[in-house]
Amino acid sequence: MQDPKPSNLVVAEHIAKVQARLASACTDVYRNKDDVTLLAVSKRHPVDAIRQAYQAGLRQFGENFVQEGVDKIQALSALDITWHYIGRLQSNKAKLIARHFDWVQTVTTEKQLQLLSRYAAEHERTLQICLQVKLGDEASKGGLDQLEIEPLLEFANTCPNIAMRGLMAIPPASDHYDQQRQWFDGLAGVFERCKQRWPQLDTLSMGMSNDLEAAIAAGSTMVRIGTAIFGQRPIE
Ligand SMILES: *Cc1c(COP(=O)(O)O)cnc(C)c1O
Repeated sequence: MQDPKPSNLVVAEHIAKVQARLASACTDVYRNKDDVTLLAVSKRHPVDAIRQAYQAGLRQFGENFVQEGVDKIQALSALDITWHYIGRLQSNKAKLIARHFDWVQTVTTEKQLQLLSRYAAEHERTLQICLQVKLGDEASKGGLDQLEIEPLLEFANTCPNIAMRGLMAIPPASDHYDQQRQWFDGLAGVFERCKQRWPQLDTLSMGMSNDLEAAIAAGSTMVRIGTAIFGQRPIE
């Protein structure tokens, strides 16, 4: 039997492949690859996998479950990592999130903004925020309807310790490039309109392992990649 490869080599190889996909997708549409941030989604993968990705050069990591994320943040506090919360937001977790995470990408209500703002102020931090927008009518994915976005951006302006950065979305799953593009182009249009009123918005968080090329072609500035970096997530 052959020796299995050390897993740190596997993670580094996966990252190199993702970076090559990202660079090639940017070249195809005359974009600069430095304008797209690679966010490594490490949910349900161990701290050691995050360390390996860090050694391979990644600095931005996303987690979906609050307690799991906080445990990892504490275990890796010596590393220079920016942590993104990309899971469902529950009011009773807002305090922990505001204390430990740097970004929250899944905000959909005024109440969530108020709580995050208050707790961030208590800890003398500023939270980087994206609003989550619904694409298609898959209720399960959650997110704002398009008409709800601008009022919430206005409200966010009144919240201390909140830095509004942009929009994020999880489109319905599709293996077809044209269908993926349609969702992403739709969100990119909404983002451009918002930027006319709020020029400081700089983050359009869209694209995952299966659709990063379409997302980049549509203008994504942050792709959130889990499986293509860490492999399949263990079954719960
Ligand atoms: C899990 C997850 C990802 C990563 O998805 P992959 O298909 O594994 O790349 C990205 N964004 C969010 C919000 C997620 O929950």
